[in-house]
Amino acid sequence: MKIHFLGTGDAFCSGGRYQTCFLVELPDYVFLIDCGATSLMAMNNSGIDPGIIDSIIISHFHGDHFGGLPFMLLDANYKHKRKTPLNIIGPPGIGRRVGELLDIMYPMVTLDKLSFKVNFVEYHHSGVVTQGPLRIESYPVIHVPEALPHGLRISYQDKTLAFSGDTGWTDELFKISESADLFICECNFYDSHTPTHLNYQTIMDQRENLHCQRIILNHLGPEMLENQDRVALECSYDGLIINI
Ligand SMILES: [Zn+2]
Repeated sequence: MKIHFLGTGDAFCSGGRYQTCFLVELPDYVFLIDCGATSLMAMNNSGIDPGIIDSIIISHFHGDHFGGLPFMLLDANYKHKRKTPLNIIGPPGIGRRVGELLDIMYPMVTLDKLSFKVNFVEYHHSGVVTQGPLRIESYPVIHVPEALPHGLRISYQDKTLAFSGDTGWTDELFKISESADLFICECNFYDSHTPTHLNYQTIMDQRENLHCQRIILNHLGPEMLENQDRVALECSYDGLIINI
């Protein structure tokens, strides 16, 4: 797996970072994890052709994680005249929510009139979905409940990429990160506490109980950016590329 960190910021693009978006390239398959509102700009700035993407996996229904989908759909339809199907995998209601978002942002553009088919696939709490060569496990996490927040374990052959999504502390993170080759963990704060996001101190307190090969902190807010020189764990940045 080649993981290209396209967007590593919070909802407010703190530090000028793009919102959450990771491009993962396999030998025969390409997918995105989350598609924040800034994702198409991030891809264009990196010289990545969105047409190579087979699937997009969404962790929850917040704009900095799925708000870029209408732009991706329009770009594929009008600019690239895409013909191959696009799979969008997400929490229950993914098809309805994306359709509504598209309708609000671009009235008269509907999913059934695009130049390509969009296949929506729902995952459920602690369930497993198979999509192409991917095995996707989803776990409920602690964030705004209405956004249906999930952490994800995405496996390809013997490699596993884990992603916390947006969450406060939950023991589900042990399961999500167990034996993962890479765990991308949100870390919005340095030491401030909120039930809906993690801070660095909490992750450090739990680090030895998180049994993953490697952990990279993501979704950095202003407090984390200001304290980054005091952080002992790896932090993501836009443009980072990791091979696992
Ligand atoms: Zn977020």
